[in-house]
Amino acid sequence: MRTSRPDHERWRPSVAPRLAPLPDDPEVIVVGAGAAGVAAARGLAARGVRVAVLEARDRVGGRLVTVALRGHPVDLGGHWLHAGPINPLVRLGTQRGEPLRVAAQESHLWVGRRRGRPAEAAALGRAFAVADRAMSTQAGWAGPDRPAATALPPGLGPWGRRVERVHGLVSGQSLDRVSLQDFPSMEYGDNRFIAGGYGGYLARLAQGLPIALGTPVTSIDWSGPDVRVQAGPRSFTARAVIVTIPTMVLRAAPLFTPALPPEVADAITGFATGIYEHAVLHWPSCPFRGADRLASLVGGREPSPGLLTRIDGTPFHFFELDAPMAAALDARGAGPDGVRRLVRTALAAHFGARALHDLSIPAVSAWRHDPWARGSWAVVPPGHAGARARLQAPVADRVWFAGEALSRLQWGTAGGAYEEGTRAAAAVAERLRSSDGLVTPAPGGT
Ligand SMILES: Cc1cc2nc3c(=O)[nH]c(=O)nc-3n(C[C@H](O)[C@H](O)[C@H](O)COP(=O)(O)OP(=O)(O)OC[C@H]3O[C@@H](n4cnc5c(N)ncnc54)[C@H](O)[C@@H]3O)c2cc1C
Repeated sequence: MRTSRPDHERWRPSVAPRLAPLPDDPEVIVVGAGAAGVAAARGLAARGVRVAVLEARDRVGGRLVTVALRGHPVDLGGHWLHAGPINPLVRLGTQRGEPLRVAAQESHLWVGRRRGRPAEAAALGRAFAVADRAMSTQAGWAGPDRPAATALPPGLGPWGRRVERVHGLVSGQSLDRVSLQDFPSMEYGDNRFIAGGYGGYLARLAQGLPIALGTPVTSIDWSGPDVRVQAGPRSFTARAVIVTIPTMVLRAAPLFTPALPPEVADAITGFATGIYEHAVLHWPSCPFRGADRLASLVGGREPSPGLLTRIDGTPFHFFELDAPMAAALDARGAGPDGVRRLVRTALAAHFGARALHDLSIPAVSAWRHDPWARGSWAVVPPGHAGARARLQAPVADRVWFAGEALSRLQWGTAGGAYEEGTRAAAAVAERLRSSDGLVTPAPGGT
């Protein structure tokens, strides 16, 4: 059965940064200490703006969290640093000497109960190439919006269903529920990983920031010239607020007084919920060799969208769950143990029950049931393109939004969230500076 505390919140994060106390008289409140909130706070602090960050959870990082499982740091949320050339967390990590590594390009194919043949791997590769070409030529599609699935060329052959499934997994929803105008708006190639985990890296970036943990914001009043932010019994007043709460959470519980302008409220409610979950496998004898390789398992009775194998060269692997699988599990009320059973059944169908003798499944993520996330990332459904841009504009020069949902080029990612937090911080600081000239110029390298 579903528990009130999602499985992925049972572990302590592997990095707990030392945080600073909140200033008495903050100029800006940042709500949320995920990638966007940390970026915003760093950007403001670097410009000499007094900032206070209010975070609902008892940890920083939001949908990035690294925990120690059997002594290894394992990410239970985001783990790839996507889009290396444009990802600010890659740029910053390189400057800081963080242990980044380029993700492996090689992958595995398993068909039914055997390894895929070279000809099958080549056919799958061709189907991906044809689909990617068709989709990228329609990137930024300017005609009337329609589902991204309509861009897939016909005749992808027997591998077409696999290609569509993987694109659906990566998008967070099947392609018939994703806007073509918004897709594909990110270069997924050139990915990186980071030793010690993505969550651990973000936690290091939060070191020394003024963040109050366990402080869920319950209302934001922007009716006056200042903003009043209520967090249970605690009340904060500031000149501006940067809200990084996931759109799925904002949609579930409106916080604003007065209500947000209709175009902003519609932008928030119109996003669909992206679903992508992990079952973390500890499986030393897994038949796949080589670190950080994706494996496609096809032809089994239980459809499985994908595996990421031997993460960082360890016996840990991610079995990935997409939106249809999560919906089927939820429809029958399966909790984490139901996920474990499904994973074992799927793997046994491909490798035989005996091959699973040393398999354990220490953790199963359930971000869709997490009250502070309610999903993995925001998805733009057909007809809703433009929502990201609408949220980038401030409301009454007092309320700014930031977070993964706003990023078009790096949609759904921690890099996109960080970029948007940085952008909002610069805009807010500029706004304060232009109204009273009190703010000092920003040093680089935030
Ligand atoms: C399983 C999974 C795998 C993923 N894989 C990748 C990946 O490989 N690479 C990648 O780049 N991205 C990945 N993502 C997406 C990525 O994790 C997110 O896009 C990113 O972390 C979002 O950052 P954010 O700051 O926008 O939001 P969040 O990280 O969600 O931060 C928002 C913060 O606001 C807090 N909050 C919510 N409500 C309140 C409130 N009322 N008061 C105060 N605080 C509140 C939350 O607790 C949270 O800390 C994955 C996500 C999941 C779930």
